Amino acid sequence: MSVPAVAVIGGGYAGLACAVELARRGVHVTVFERSHTLGGRARVVHKDPHWRVDNGQHILIGAYAELTRLLRLTGGSPRQLEHLPLTLHVPGRLHLRAAALPAPFHLAVGLLRAQGLSWSDRLAMLRLMRALKRDGFRVAPGATVADLLRTTGQTANLIQLVWEPLCVAALNTPIAEACAQVFANVLRDSLASSAAASELLIPRVDLSELFPVPAARFLATRRGRLRTGNAITAIQPVDGGFRLEGDPGSQPWQQVVLATAPYHAAPLLASTGACDRLAAQIDALPHEPIVTVYLALGRGQHLPYAMIGLVSGSTAGPAQWAFDRGRLGGPEGLIACVISASGPHEQLARDELILATHGQLERQLGRRLPAPEWSQVIVEKRATIACRPGIFRPGMRTPLPGLWLAGDYVDSDYPATLESAVRSGVACAQAIFGGGAVAS
Ligand SMILES: Cc1cc2nc3c(=O)[nH]c(=O)nc-3n(C[C@H](O)[C@H](O)[C@H](O)COP(=O)(O)OP(=O)(O)OC[C@H]3O[C@@H](n4cnc5c(N)ncnc54)[C@H](O)[C@@H]3O)c2cc1C
Repeated sequence: MSVPAVAVIGGGYAGLACAVELARRGVHVTVFERSHTLGGRARVVHKDPHWRVDNGQHILIGAYAELTRLLRLTGGSPRQLEHLPLTLHVPGRLHLRAAALPAPFHLAVGLLRAQGLSWSDRLAMLRLMRALKRDGFRVAPGATVADLLRTTGQTANLIQLVWEPLCVAALNTPIAEACAQVFANVLRDSLASSAAASELLIPRVDLSELFPVPAARFLATRRGRLRTGNAITAIQPVDGGFRLEGDPGSQPWQQVVLATAPYHAAPLLASTGACDRLAAQIDALPHEPIVTVYLALGRGQHLPYAMIGLVSGSTAGPAQWAFDRGRLGGPEGLIACVISASGPHEQLARDELILATHGQLERQLGRRLPAPEWSQVIVEKRATIACRPGIFRPGMRTPLPGLWLAGDYVDSDYPATLESAVRSGVACAQAIFGGGAVAS
């Protein structure tokens, strides 16, 4: 089937996944990206000439099948991701590591060997997993993760050390508000699936280098065009398709994929003059922040694992996770501390956040740490949409045939993640081909 050239607005993971899938099928595709850096909310930033860090530490799981397929397709090396068996290590409090066995023994044996969990904790975890399995991973409509934890009798220890940090890491939403169904979907495809699906995959290269740059090379060899530093400011329906304000070309596009974050998609949709209701719904989506505090502690400074959990809270400290970038292909001693979702830390100034996370690390590692040689706080106020029960997530079709939506916020059974972004991009490409829906 012959498909005319397609315009993709947005060079984040969704837009590039869509472009790669179209180019793979021989379509001429042009990506318009307003920034000079590819990757959108998952990109490298140069906040300091000596330090290349990402706009936020990201983590993938083995269940992210579509992203790993695209990495292979675009020539990414497996060495770009550190594959770790599911390990939850909270210094002095918890050590839970999935065993190198097929599911469900990887988790069962891991639980048996876990340090820091009482028998009631272990039984509670099994109870939750069994209840979800029994119900086919369907939970009551409208239930929050806190409801699910309550009805399955989870212990306070398990909630604090396992469920709460896992929920904010995966859904970027506090348990009291987070959608239990989406959480159950993530557990279904990770903890309750194969040992490989529950692996943690942590990028060893920066997030622009991981997929966007190989995707750009893939497009270049398939007559794709990438226009960076080229914002599209309006979409105008015309005879034969759409004219894009900001596009230096003069031909209208029959097919346009709008692959920006929701808060940029809403005004562009409104500019068509035919999608006001959809634009207003997308504009009203609630968001949650993510803060990453980078601390360069210098040579000889390591965490016990590449990724550790931290006890967080008003007295313990703001961060939920810390990553040892030195163990992940980065400079020795560079630690990335992640504070997902909203919370009291939002009241702190940047210097206070640095002091608070440094102090939290010292207390929880049980040793004095050197003062940071360099530090950086990156606040992404609208990192992802809030993953609440019943939240509106639009489909990929708009009221205008030929104008499509792609992005992490588009309807999916997954939270707003890199995986949901690339799945929606690929789904758009397949729909443009009339190939029907892609796996959700
Ligand atoms: C700090 C942080 C931590 C995160 N951690 C994780 C994690 O651990 N695991 C995980 O899976 N996900 C994580 N996420 C979420 C993940 O980054 C997003 O789900 C994903 O990057 C969204 O991709 P996208 O392509 O849908 O949107 P975006 O990345 O927002 O891409 C949209 C692109 O469109 C461009 N654009 C906007 N307007 C225009 C215009 N008018 N013209 C042209 N271009 C335009 C933007 O510049 C951007 O490049 C995290 C996000 C953040 C911010």
